Amino acid sequence: MKLTVCPYRLELRHPFRLASGSRNHTDTVLIRLEDGELYGFGEASLPPYLGENVRTVGDFMKSIDTRRLSVDDLAESLQYVDRLAEGNNAAKAAIDLALHDLAAKTVGKTLGEYFNLPRKDIATTLTIGISTPDELRTKLAEAEEFALLKLKLGSDDDKALVQEFRRLTDKPFCADANQGWSGRRPTLDLCRFLAEEGCLFIEQPYRGENTDDAVWLVDRSPIPIIADEAIRRLDDLKNKAYAFSGVNIKLMKSTGLAEALKMIDYARDKKMKVIVGCMAESSCAVTAAAHIAALADYADLDGPLLISNDPWRGIRYRDGNILLPDRPGIGVVLEPDGANAALFG
Ligand code: MG
Repeated sequence: MKLTVCPYRLELRHPFRLASGSRNHTDTVLIRLEDGELYGFGEASLPPYLGENVRTVGDFMKSIDTRRLSVDDLAESLQYVDRLAEGNNAAKAAIDLALHDLAAKTVGKTLGEYFNLPRKDIATTLTIGISTPDELRTKLAEAEEFALLKLKLGSDDDKALVQEFRRLTDKPFCADANQGWSGRRPTLDLCRFLAEEGCLFIEQPYRGENTDDAVWLVDRSPIPIIADEAIRRLDDLKNKAYAFSGVNIKLMKSTGLAEALKMIDYARDKKMKVIVGCMAESSCAVTAAAHIAALADYADLDGPLLISNDPWRGIRYRDGNILLPDRPGIGVVLEPDGANAALFG
């Protein structure tokens, strides 16, 4: 197999404002694995807080002996990649995606068919970053076709933000504090307030390592408490399942599809809610995630909608629902116009 690596900067439509800061772009690394006539595509999206960057992904890719990769034994290939180094979850995810893309293409199946997954229309949440009242009005107008919105919280005054949201719309919503809250009683008060406003669940109120307060809260909150930053891989899920009502599983955290599917199984076994989510990502990784989102309670797969220079044709959206491509594999092809077709040389 031949591995080609292509760094790519995703431009965000709106500055992305979170409890942790603001940014206008997200770096990603697109990869291509060539096996005979077939190409497998993968992606490592690199939001800064996860600690990987274009250089670390490039170094990791250079360390791979592609003779050890084979679609005939994916488990062995992925185990080899995982053992090359600690961490590097997004880089590992890129290889996992490209290998699964190839494996499904080899047998002429879509990724969903390859995994034997149900195919159904799934709705996705649309994320609304921390906004001023004017920005909120604009974003709500853009979000008209989406039935479930996800509000980013962790602002200076979250109650005012939610009240402003409620003045403008009666749509159901969920919320994501991105580790922005602290203290037991104030957080419980916010959860009760959110429940009264019709919030379906709250994601990651506390810092990821703060399991003690999470356990305290999960026993008392009227709405489900979902882990995101606290749980990256299957081992994290096994260690922390008791502290959360559910988990947001993302390919860039889980090291890809193989482990994400194991995490879904484990969470189901523990009666946890399952969200399949994404980072700011191109359609490559998000389309892959959309294939397995049929197994989730909620899909939070709006990545391609938040960027202005998606190089792929893949997942599409209609009336707030995700439309999966019919092509074999993940089902993404590079947009044929402009420079995209030449991305991999
Ligand atoms: Mg989150």
